[in-house]
Amino acid sequence: MFQPRRLPWPVALGFTLAAAVLLVWGAHGITQKARQAILDRDAELTARVWGEFLVANLGSIADLLAGRPVSEADQRLLSCKRQTAAIFRFKIFDGNGLLRHVADCGRWDDMHRVAQGERSSDAAAVAQSGSPQVFARRGDGVSRPQLYAAAFMPLALEQDVMGVIEVYIDHTARARMLESVLLTAGASISALAGSAFALPALLALWHARERRKTAHRLRHVASHDELTGLLNRSALVERIDQLMARKTEFAVHFIDLDRFKDVNDNHGHPVGDALLREVAERLLHIASDSICVARLGGDEFAMVQELAPADELASMRLARRIVTAIDLPFHMGEVEARIGASVGTSLYPRDGQNRERLLVAADLALYAAKRAGRGRAVGFESSIEEERRSRQALEARLRQAVEDEDFEIYYQPLYSTDGKTLRAFEALLRLNAEDGTPISPAVFIPVAEELRLIDRIGQWVLREACQTATLWPGSISIAVNLSPLQFLSGSLSTIVHSVLDETGIDPRRLELEMTESVLLEKPDAILAQLNIIKSFGVSIALDDFGTGYSSLSYLWRFPFDTLKVDGSFMVGLNDPASRSREVLDTIIALGRVLNLHVTAEGVETREQIEVLRELHCDFVQGFLLGRPVRSTEVASVILEALKPRDEEPPLILPQRKQA
Ligand code: C2E
Ligand code: MG
Ligand code: MG
Repeated sequence: MFQPRRLPWPVALGFTLAAAVLLVWGAHGITQKARQAILDRDAELTARVWGEFLVANLGSIADLLAGRPVSEADQRLLSCKRQTAAIFRFKIFDGNGLLRHVADCGRWDDMHRVAQGERSSDAAAVAQSGSPQVFARRGDGVSRPQLYAAAFMPLALEQDVMGVIEVYIDHTARARMLESVLLTAGASISALAGSAFALPALLALWHARERRKTAHRLRHVASHDELTGLLNRSALVERIDQLMARKTEFAVHFIDLDRFKDVNDNHGHPVGDALLREVAERLLHIASDSICVARLGGDEFAMVQELAPADELASMRLARRIVTAIDLPFHMGEVEARIGASVGTSLYPRDGQNRERLLVAADLALYAAKRAGRGRAVGFESSIEEERRSRQALEARLRQAVEDEDFEIYYQPLYSTDGKTLRAFEALLRLNAEDGTPISPAVFIPVAEELRLIDRIGQWVLREACQTATLWPGSISIAVNLSPLQFLSGSLSTIVHSVLDETGIDPRRLELEMTESVLLEKPDAILAQLNIIKSFGVSIALDDFGTGYSSLSYLWRFPFDTLKVDGSFMVGLNDPASRSREVLDTIIALGRVLNLHVTAEGVETREQIEVLRELHCDFVQGFLLGRPVRSTEVASVILEALKPRDEEPPLILPQRKQA
């Protein structure tokens, strides 16, 4: 659709002003013309009146015009003694323009002497035409008035032109008076007309200013983050494109705040917003003129830093300064908060020849900084990309395995320390990559935890392992590992209960293994869940004991039945300097005091099992006694274990006696 084009405001304003000037100039011209017309008309009138007066009052005008002597009375009349103030001279010509009489009067008297018989072509022309003629003249103010008129008027008697009278009229005072009157009128008209233009012009000016302001505001909004006033993502991208076009070397720093969500959750959004503003302040404080700072959204910021050629170290210096600046405590009113920042840096042109590549590189570096434990700066390296790719592949594989229940459970036997009595199997989850190579649970379990898939996986393992164990002799228990995250939902006890129900397994044959890391957060809530689970008859083992905090208070506050000593102690037994034996001795003694069974994991050698026997450890688990096997191979392990002891009663892991 056709849109009328708006004139640019300076052009419109120029037009308006020019029109106003033209108007004022025009008004001035008109007043000048009007003044002259009035003066001319006035002169003509004066000349006519004076001419008619003379014609009417002279005794013999014919004598005068013929150059004959005139009477005394006529001479008196012609002497100009009675003339009005404005007439300072008059001349009388005959019909041929020959001067017959001249009279000077007033202050201009004697200033001008004219010879009798002088001929005036103007007078002759007027006599010829019968039409009056007026000439406006300027004098020097000394010999003649500054402004005067010479009006030629035919002297007629009953329609016959007999001669011409030329009357000189001093217009100086009258012109001045008219000037002032017309000037006032002209000024008023000009002011009115001017304001008729000026108002719209001023209005246009105001509109233009408003438009400029709005455009500026819109540009600002479009390129800035509202909360912090920093540049936004699109402005940052623009800056990157500019630097690339100039072939300047530069660094892109992606900054992600650590633990910002906690501040928001614990103190509310206004405090969170104040913190983001303070972060922006600190970043601006450490940024020089050649560095631009942007907020990309949420708790993500970015900086683009111009670099001198081959000065890559400067980028890492800045990245570390960012980490240090954000590490200092923040004060928002009453609230003090400590967060941190992870920084990922990529360099142009080294890490990416185009914008997309460069931003991906900075993002990957940031990802690596966060994975490495946060609160640090990491520069992009190609290995990060490979890591990320394999991580993404693992995530995809995990999601698909959860959908298709494409996991497998291996079972590893636990024996009494004499190595002959099979007590239980530990269920150990297995996952293969697409190409069939096994992925260690130590690798995929943490990823499943991060992706919050562990609840579904954990439930599946529990149900599957209990189901499988129902096929075994009732003397053999099943141990199932729990992730700390499975406690968070609060529904673990319900899940355990329904699995016991569904599978019909004797609860006393089920042992759940947990690590103490889960107890660091919300220990009371976890204690409550454990007590419910315990009330079903299920036992609880503390796994990997000796690797974490190994807090004694956990041991007596929580209803554990078994301590599983971490395999690292077995490795230590091979080294006499490590004093693992003494520590193991103490742990086993502690277990005895607290009425707990002690299981040693990772037993690989005869020497290790010898030591465990000497220390009266209850149970052992390790490659020496049996590797984890498929469910289909469990039967042969059981048969092998039961063979020499057919007559023994079925063994059930005894529950810890309640204190
Ligand atoms: P864990 O619960 O301490 O399991 C024992 C680990 O030690 C198993 O590793 C087992 O294969 C390994 N092992 C047993 N005997 C020996 C030995 O003599 N020498 C050595 N070097 N290792 C031995 P795996 O199967 O790789 O599992 C690793 C960890 O993954 C487990 O440690 C457990 O924490 C976790 N995990 C395994 N399955 C599950 C599961 O279903 N759910 C959860 N939440 N975690 C699981
Ligand atoms: Mg375990
Ligand atoms: Mg363990």
